[in-house]
Amino acid sequence: FHYPLPANEPVLSYAPGSAERATLKKTLAELKKKEIDIPMYIGGRAVKTGKRIAIRPPHETSHVLGYFHAGDDKHVQQAIDAALKAREAWANMPWEDRAHIFLKAADLIATKYRSFMNGTTMLGQSKNAYQAEIDSACELIDFLRYNVHFLSEIYRQQPVSSPGIHNRTEWRPLEGFVLAITPFNFTAIGGNLPASAAMCGNVVVWKPANTQVYSAQMFMRILKEAGLPDGVINLVYVSGPVLGKACFTHPDFAGVHFTGSTGVFNQMWETIGKNIAKYKTYPRIVGETGGKDFVLVHKSADVDAAVTALARGAFEFQGQKCSAASRAYIPSNLANAIKTKLAAVLKTMKMGTVEDFGNFINAVIDEKSFDKIAAYIDAAKKDRKATIIAGGNYDKSEGYFIEPTVIEAKDPRYVTMCEEIFGPVLTLYVYDADNYEKALELVDTTSPYALTGAVLAQDRDAITLATQKLRNAAGNFYINDKPTGAVVGQQPFGGARASGTNDKAGSMINLYRWLSARTVKETF
Ligand code: GLU
Repeated sequence: FHYPLPANEPVLSYAPGSAERATLKKTLAELKKKEIDIPMYIGGRAVKTGKRIAIRPPHETSHVLGYFHAGDDKHVQQAIDAALKAREAWANMPWEDRAHIFLKAADLIATKYRSFMNGTTMLGQSKNAYQAEIDSACELIDFLRYNVHFLSEIYRQQPVSSPGIHNRTEWRPLEGFVLAITPFNFTAIGGNLPASAAMCGNVVVWKPANTQVYSAQMFMRILKEAGLPDGVINLVYVSGPVLGKACFTHPDFAGVHFTGSTGVFNQMWETIGKNIAKYKTYPRIVGETGGKDFVLVHKSADVDAAVTALARGAFEFQGQKCSAASRAYIPSNLANAIKTKLAAVLKTMKMGTVEDFGNFINAVIDEKSFDKIAAYIDAAKKDRKATIIAGGNYDKSEGYFIEPTVIEAKDPRYVTMCEEIFGPVLTLYVYDADNYEKALELVDTTSPYALTGAVLAQDRDAITLATQKLRNAAGNFYINDKPTGAVVGQQPFGGARASGTNDKAGSMINLYRWLSARTVKETF
């Protein structure tokens, strides 16, 4: 069974008067009316603990969408046991049968449940319809279909044989269970991290961020409807330390598929390192972590293209992307034009709830994020090394709203040029347009991260120089474009340095990490 290269799932427009807008509006109303009570899913069973935690839209914190049942160490243990129990049958199932479950799930999202995946993502994570469509419909569907394609490519890779000797590679799943830990900011990542490992024949314990549970449980229910056997993916809602304690000390811990902060990932490596002798096998540690993604504008750049790259790169999705543009290097000859035009574009970005489809900016995810972002803005207001040149206001009375904010830093190593903020804040530094080499050096050395970055220039030599000098500064490098919006199958996504293990989501590189090959030689 070879699954051919699929086409990307088309992005629906949600234009006024469109059928998809009407359906989505109906689903949103339905979701808001019904207070959902969300269980964990362990060994195919819905588990309710009574320890209920409320889910509220970040843009309307007075409303309760429902509750989820939080678990403890006992539930993590049950999830591991259920996974290990399911392992043999799942690992031995013909891979095409496993693949068809995920292809069916993709089709169910594309048709029957599209508005529910989008609706839960919009309300639970405060994404507008367009952002949700790109994430929880198209990207999630693409991850599922492309990974089936990539896996079929991997499975058919076989070594050479000769007369009397037959060699083959068996692409076995890992020996044990895989832990998937997923962030709030992408429903597609939430789905992909457990699903890609499971597709390879692994069994999984999946812990989404509390702020992602609303859409995660929707995907889990779709997988169940598509025929995923009990225990293959177990969805638990527990704290990081509780999860870590049970999983990282377990002899059958075989790997972790993580997206989240660099700090948490570092702690995980340490814990796994300390426990290394406990495991049956060396665990695979795969993570996408932070970013401090750059936009470097050369003196030859087109001003409008640069402004678009900055505005979209920094503020779409409220800047809550690992890939979001957050530090920009602007040449002195274009500085005034770029600053003026950027401030004008920001004024046109409407901010508000996701239910008004005209809003471009929605709320940031929770109070902790809001307070952290606001603190950076406040500090910049007071610091002589920084000036707020657009935005700067915030308000959490109804939801966690932060205006798109641009800071100009006089020092290229000002704190907001270096640290990840994960919100709608962009910092600019104006460099001497005749000293491009210096700007390249700053881009490369200012932050520990290396996820995404963009260069904007019309001069080919400037592009070539940036491509060479910034070779290790970004895992996804964009020429004359914004540094966001990687499409599955087109721009495999991931970064190195403090940004992760660069195992490119949505690619064969990633899938290899969930497979452990056995070479079989038979002589006759
Ligand atoms: N893949 C997304 C992009 O290219 C970002 C994913 C993330 O934020 O982790 O914009």
